Amino acid sequence: MKSKNWINDAVFASWWLTWDDLSWPDPVLTARWKARAARFQERGINTVVMFGLHFRFDYFAHFERVFGLLREIADICHDHGLRVVEHHSATLVHRVRNRKDRLEIRERNFHHVPFYPDGWEHAYYGGKPMAAWRQVSARDGKPVFFERYTCECFCPNHPDYQHAYLDYIARHVEAVPIDACMSDDLHYLPDFYSCGCEHCRKRFFEEEGITLPSARDRGFWENFENPDFLKWIAARYRWNGDFYRRLRAALPSGIMLWGCASDAIDARVAGIAYSPQHYVPHWDAVFHEIVSTNRPGKDDVKIASDLAGFAGLAFQYDKPLIALFYPRDVDELKMWMQTATFHRARPWLSKQPRTPGTPTEEEMLRESITLPAYPEGDVEPPVGIVFSESTRDRLGPRAPSDYVQPFRDLTERVCREGKRAVALFDGCWENGFSRGALAAVHVPGAAGLSAEKKAALDRLREGDIPVRLE
Ligand SMILES: [Zn+2]
Repeated sequence: MKSKNWINDAVFASWWLTWDDLSWPDPVLTARWKARAARFQERGINTVVMFGLHFRFDYFAHFERVFGLLREIADICHDHGLRVVEHHSATLVHRVRNRKDRLEIRERNFHHVPFYPDGWEHAYYGGKPMAAWRQVSARDGKPVFFERYTCECFCPNHPDYQHAYLDYIARHVEAVPIDACMSDDLHYLPDFYSCGCEHCRKRFFEEEGITLPSARDRGFWENFENPDFLKWIAARYRWNGDFYRRLRAALPSGIMLWGCASDAIDARVAGIAYSPQHYVPHWDAVFHEIVSTNRPGKDDVKIASDLAGFAGLAFQYDKPLIALFYPRDVDELKMWMQTATFHRARPWLSKQPRTPGTPTEEEMLRESITLPAYPEGDVEPPVGIVFSESTRDRLGPRAPSDYVQPFRDLTERVCREGKRAVALFDGCWENGFSRGALAAVHVPGAAGLSAEKKAALDRLREGDIPVRLE
C-alpha cells in the first residue's frame, strides 16, 4: 500500500454470487471460493465486491443464511489479502403480479439472484409491515411499480423503513467482516409523482411550506416554470442524500461507504430524483458505474462526459474515484484500464452481466494486465467544465439539447485533446479556486445560466484562471 487511504490503491473485481451459493454451508462451495480468492490475489486484484444478492429485503426471511455465506467468503478473502465490499440495493424489492412478471424477472434480471417472496402483504420486519414502506404515486396513492426491474421501491422518508434499514446494517456489520459498504438505489420511481406518501407530503410542507397538490394540478406538476415544482425536485434530491447521511453516521468509521451511480449529468435523473451531487458529501469514495452497454471506442462522448462528472465530484470533495466497467474480452479490458488511468479512477473489473458466454473476471485475468498505480508527485491540473444541476432542471424538456449535450460534446473534445476534464457542479466554483488548481474553466450553455452564476463567472475571470464561454 502506498497511500494513506486504501481506496487509492484498490484494484477491484466483482465477486458474483449465484443460486448455488445459497446452498451454504457446503465444502464444495468452500473449495470454489478459496480457488477464486487465490486467483484474484495472484493476478493483482486486492479488493472484491459482493454482487448478486441484490434486492436485499427480498431475503428478509433468510438474512442469517445470507450473513453465513457472506461471512465465510469474507474470511476467505481476508485470508488472501483481499478487502471485501458489501453491495446491495437498499430500497428495491421484486413484485410479481402474474406469471409474465416471473418470466420477465427470469429473462431480464438473471444477473442477480432474484429470490423474491410471494408478496409483501404478509411480510414483517421487527414487527412492522414492510408493505407500508413502499413509495406511492401522487397520481393514485397506490404503490409505484417500476416495469424495467419488475419491482417496487421503499420510501426513504418512511420512519419504520429508516429504522429497519439501519437495524439491518447493524446486524450485517456485526455478522460479516467488511471493509466497505455500497448501498444502492436511492431514487424515487418511476417519475416525478413519487412519493406521495404521508411522510413525504408532511416533510415537503415542513421544509417548504407547500402542500403537495392533486396530480391534476397542471400548474404545478411538470411545470418547470413553477418555482414550487422546482422545490419539489430539489427536495427529493435532498431526501435521498439524507439517507446516506444517516447511514454514514450509523456505520463504524473504519467501514467505507459509497453507493452506485451511473449518471450525474443526464436530464432524466431529475425524474427519478437521482443526484450523486447530494450523495457524495456522505460517501468516502466517488463511484461511477459505466453501464454495461457502453463500449470504449464507440460511446466515447458518453463515457468521457459521464466520467468527467464523477471526476468533478472527486475533485470537489477530494475523495478517491472508482470506475466500474464491464469488458467483453481482454482487449476491451486493456482499453478500460487506460480510460481509468486517464481519468485517475481506481479500476473495477466486472464480467458482462447480461451476455452469457462472455469471459468471467477470472478468465480475463489469465492474461497479464497492467494495473494502474496511484499517480505520485505533481499531477497536471484538470480543465474545469461548469455544469449546473439547478440550471438543467429549470430547463425541463429543453435540457437534453440545450444544456446536457453541449456539456457532453465539449467534455469529450477536451479529453480527446489529452486534457483531463472535471465537471464543476453548483457550489463548487462560485467562490473561486486556489492558484493552480485548474488549468482553465469552460462554460458550455452559458446563455442559460442564472444572473448569480454569471456574476460568479466574472469573479473567476478576475482571478488567474482563464474562463471560456462556449
Ligand atoms: Zn414517501
